[in-house]
Amino acid sequence: MTELDDALGRIGVDATHGVWVGADGAQGSGAVCEARSPIDGSSLGQIGWATTSDVARAAAANRKAFEVLRRIPAPRRGELVRRFGQVLREHHEDLAVLVTWEAGKIRSEAVGEVQEMIDICDFAVGLSRQLYGKTMTSERAAHRLTEQWHPLGPVGVITAFNFPVAVWAWNAAIALVCGDPLVWKPSERTPLCALACHQLLMRACETMDDIPDTVSSVVIGGTDVGQALAGDRRLPLISATGSVRMGRSVAQVVAERLGRTLLELGGNNAAIVTPSADLELALRALVFAAAGTAGQRCTTLRRLIVQRDRYEEVVEAIRAVYARLSVGDPRLPDTLVGPLIDKPAFSAMQAALDRARAQGGTVHFGERVRQDVPEGGIYVRPALVEMPSQTAIVMEETFAPILYVIPYDDLQDAIRIHNEVPQGLSSSIFTNDMREAETFCGPQGSDCGIVNVNVGTSGAEIGGAFGGEKDTGGGRESGSDAWKAYMRRATHTVNYSDELPLAQGVEFDME
Ligand code: NAD
Repeated sequence: MTELDDALGRIGVDATHGVWVGADGAQGSGAVCEARSPIDGSSLGQIGWATTSDVARAAAANRKAFEVLRRIPAPRRGELVRRFGQVLREHHEDLAVLVTWEAGKIRSEAVGEVQEMIDICDFAVGLSRQLYGKTMTSERAAHRLTEQWHPLGPVGVITAFNFPVAVWAWNAAIALVCGDPLVWKPSERTPLCALACHQLLMRACETMDDIPDTVSSVVIGGTDVGQALAGDRRLPLISATGSVRMGRSVAQVVAERLGRTLLELGGNNAAIVTPSADLELALRALVFAAAGTAGQRCTTLRRLIVQRDRYEEVVEAIRAVYARLSVGDPRLPDTLVGPLIDKPAFSAMQAALDRARAQGGTVHFGERVRQDVPEGGIYVRPALVEMPSQTAIVMEETFAPILYVIPYDDLQDAIRIHNEVPQGLSSSIFTNDMREAETFCGPQGSDCGIVNVNVGTSGAEIGGAFGGEKDTGGGRESGSDAWKAYMRRATHTVNYSDELPLAQGVEFDME
């Protein structure tokens, strides 16, 4: 028995069934596919994948559950999420084991990802008593003008491999308190994590007679399953996390039926290191952001824009740390950089490094690590690439640990380089100069959804709204008022007078 078997056993995952509509599990009507661990390529089980007909069944069940859920008061829905958070606390370590085995995250990051699920549950419980609408002053006497937020309907959730549990939890916790059931299509590369999350939510559902278990469904499958979700009119909102290419495709299908999308797509995040930066602090933040999670976070630091006078110093400092970064088995306590998710990720990384060389770059590291790592996995030393300028390859997101370094002369130049890429997710500036910091945060500064000062680009807290602009898709989820995407707004005008004045003073006299 491995620690994975133990964890799956404790959570109660039936890893053969790839379609779960509430507590009802079934082998999907599609092909039987193997789940593999990026740690060593070993098989984690055989799962029957869903097809479009399974999606239709799940959506129909979700729709029925919606009829019930929308009538249940929000604080009571919050109670479901509170209980789910409790189940997550009990299985914190178990779920972290799955994240490590299936996504290859080092244990500390895996534990952190589950903590994020618990945090969003806590947030959502409080939110369940704070789904506030506004009261506006009416221009008409004896009229009340208010807005109310109502449940929207079942949400289709499509997620990426690199946050195999937290991103769903952001959606699930908020959607459920908002009164929306959800059907989840996780990454085909992390099916066990999804089956486990669903199972744990079912534990919480079991304890509440008034809430149907069909508020949650999971359909394991590929692109066709994601497309079926996108096209299903019973799902008024599609929340999709993944590559820009995926987002474009999903957005078009949902737009065709005039549905709503919440898109969380790729980033090409940058940090600016200014003359006044505290280099010791910056170095820790930069290396975690660039090399942590083996460069496989949407918020991973991919571009470093350094003031020319500090360029050599910064490059040398990062090189020295990269040379000794512990790359290897993510289950071992001292490892900082685990495996790449699969072979195509490695090929994409090497192709990007070749293009960088051809475009004038000097590549440090980035090679495959074969010593003291589990056989069958793909391990690389994170790459540091000195670029003379922001060339075509730097403008792309390569989902691997590559950090491009570019020199700049003055802050305006740095901000121009920073904002030049098509993506707009996360950004940082390292400075002790208040004017520089505020300029970067202001309207002529970073054009990203996440703008940090003396904090790296990755590792956001759940309390803020998470997401980005431009090709990143414009969606916001998690904290702040991101919940509004999961509800519909009704504006009410109530006339409690015995006259009928029309707005804008319009006269319509029928006498
Ligand atoms: P991916 O786009 O390959 O897959 C993401 C999900 O979309 C998977 O479930 C996949 O099956 C599905 N999918 C792919 N093509 C589809 C299509 N045409 N129609 C419907 N569904 C489709 O992404 P990935 O490799 O799993 O993850 C890495 C990418 O995700 C990176 O670009 C990363 O930046 C991005 N990401 C973004 C965020 C964010 O919050 N902005 C978070 C995590 C990951």
